[in-house]
Amino acid sequence: MSFRPRTSRQRYRQYRIDLKAHETEGSMRTAAAHVKTKGPHGQRSFLQLFAAFYGFLRGSRAIIGFSLLTVMVATALKLIPPAATGFVLDYILGSKQIPAGVVERFGLPTERPTLLTLTAVVLVAVAAVAIAVGMTGRYLNTLTTKRVQSRVRKRVFEHAVRLPLHRIYQLKSGGVASILREDAGGVGELLFSMLYNPWRAVIQLLGTLAILAVIDWRLLVGSLLVIPIIYYTHRSWIGRIRPLWRDIRASRQYMDGHATEAFGGMRVVRSFGRQRAETGRFIRNNHLMIRQELLAWWASRTIEVGWAVLIPAASAALLWYGGRRVLEGAITTGDLVMFLFYLAMLLEPLATLASSATSFQNSLAGLDRVLDLLDEPQEFEGTGGADAPRSTGVGAAIAIRGLSFAYPGADTCVLEDIDLEIPAGRMVAFVGSSGAGKTTLCNLIARFYDPTEGVITFDGVDLRTIDVERYRRLLGVVEQDIFLFDGTVGENIAYGRRGATPEEIRGAAEQAHAAEFIDRLDRGYDTIIGERGVRLSGGQRQRLAIARALLADPCILILDEATSNLDTESERLIQVSLETLMRDRTSFVIAHRLSTIAHADLIVVLEHGRIVEKGTHAQLMDRSGRYRNMVQMQLMPTSTDANGGMLLPREPTESRA
Ligand code: ADP
Repeated sequence: MSFRPRTSRQRYRQYRIDLKAHETEGSMRTAAAHVKTKGPHGQRSFLQLFAAFYGFLRGSRAIIGFSLLTVMVATALKLIPPAATGFVLDYILGSKQIPAGVVERFGLPTERPTLLTLTAVVLVAVAAVAIAVGMTGRYLNTLTTKRVQSRVRKRVFEHAVRLPLHRIYQLKSGGVASILREDAGGVGELLFSMLYNPWRAVIQLLGTLAILAVIDWRLLVGSLLVIPIIYYTHRSWIGRIRPLWRDIRASRQYMDGHATEAFGGMRVVRSFGRQRAETGRFIRNNHLMIRQELLAWWASRTIEVGWAVLIPAASAALLWYGGRRVLEGAITTGDLVMFLFYLAMLLEPLATLASSATSFQNSLAGLDRVLDLLDEPQEFEGTGGADAPRSTGVGAAIAIRGLSFAYPGADTCVLEDIDLEIPAGRMVAFVGSSGAGKTTLCNLIARFYDPTEGVITFDGVDLRTIDVERYRRLLGVVEQDIFLFDGTVGENIAYGRRGATPEEIRGAAEQAHAAEFIDRLDRGYDTIIGERGVRLSGGQRQRLAIARALLADPCILILDEATSNLDTESERLIQVSLETLMRDRTSFVIAHRLSTIAHADLIVVLEHGRIVEKGTHAQLMDRSGRYRNMVQMQLMPTSTDANGGMLLPREPTESRA
């Protein structure tokens, strides 16, 4: 098997083949087979997209309505200047006479120079009003665009944080960020490309059509001939462009996902000297995207070139025809000039629509992808809802019955036939070799996943019926791989409880034996710890995580190798505080150092996803089973274990992860 990555050219060729296959199948579904971001739907129809977009406008519809009204007024005012030009040509410079009734009624001056000045003044006034009204509308629309963007981003974020864990791992953090930034941002832009600009175009179109009809209906019929051509090009080309934009967006998400991952794992990248390889991968992804972008560029230009030819040709044809009508004496020169002005105004919105059609498709593709994400089922959707029965005093009783579990997408069970009854307030330890399923069992108790078979109950209530967010508020989890946010030490400890006071934060730090090292930091609790806590040692991070769990005051505590990064001395210190922490709570502990769990109420030995032994330390030591074996193995001094403590041979100490 070769690990040589495929070049962007090879991937692009495959992409074109997939694209062809999809087009000939008549399906417009995205062809970017290398990115699994497709939702349950293929391409949505324009109406579906519009309806979804309209939904996002809730709360801003009145203001949008008002901005559309201002556009209407501003556009209508723009129709006045060409008429004024025609008027000047025919009535002031030409030989036509203004009807006497009109002169009297409006009190118009009879001298031509005065009339000319008046016309100019009116034109300036009209332009000023049109600009003021138009700017107001544009500002309101821009404001609403930002509001819609922030609303869509909020919806996407809210939804993404509730997706099932395995889906989030698939999308990668950079991938989600890409959807939030690019795609959700594009949805806001739709306000201009889907409502504001088309509306302006429609008003201008109808206005000019009406005026043209008054000037000369034959000319109008000629100009209307362009409309079927527009419709046809739109139908045949635009539909092809959106899938291309979708794929480009998917590629960008893929690229962002990988880049974020590379920087997240920079220590590994550096320690294996893989900077060049990572750069290469980034460049290859980028090259693929560039190839796709060029393809979309060609598709878009085809439409634009069509327009660039069509519009001057149409104008020339109408100029020719209109000129003949003047020669025939059917219309005046002023009429023809006016007509040509209006014709330009008629074609202008169409040209704007045509040139923005491709960016419009790009934004629509963004909306399509946002909807894909919002359509994905959330974690445990449709289950739960019941309040967690808050157990008073001593934690909660947890029972596991007939539990089997396979990770989503995997067919082999990693846990089988697990049965456990844990009365409230007890400490349970899971032991077993690596890969036995200890973490998975804790994941199920924390309800990061639901059992494939069997049930877990909390004070007698099936976990699946409890509202998962409320349930998790009762949990405190300290994992081996500690995740800290870039912020101050104090903020990280307070993460577990909203509105914690500085005294409470300090108290928790003291109990977790973290206060001492925090005080030694240059800014104490206000020290910024860097992304993921890179400025702290493994042991310090672990103590912060314990303080965070202590402050959250959970009724169920899960400690997954929570002390594995501590040296023996600190572990002994923390052990005392952990015991305080575990008192009055139901706790699940995974530990390699068996000395730390010897006093557990129940020790469960797992092997290949099954329980092979359970009992107290004393009971298990009486049997010559797996547990006793493990204890004896750990007691054996190894060459690396200089202080003869109960250490496993390859255990990390105070390491920087
Ligand atoms: P332990 O905590 O005892 O070391 P785990 O519970 O982490 O073991 O893993 C048990 C088994 O589940 C392993 O075979 C591992 O490969 C598998 N596993 C763990 N996490 C996942 C996951 N997210 N998806 C699929 N399989 C997983």
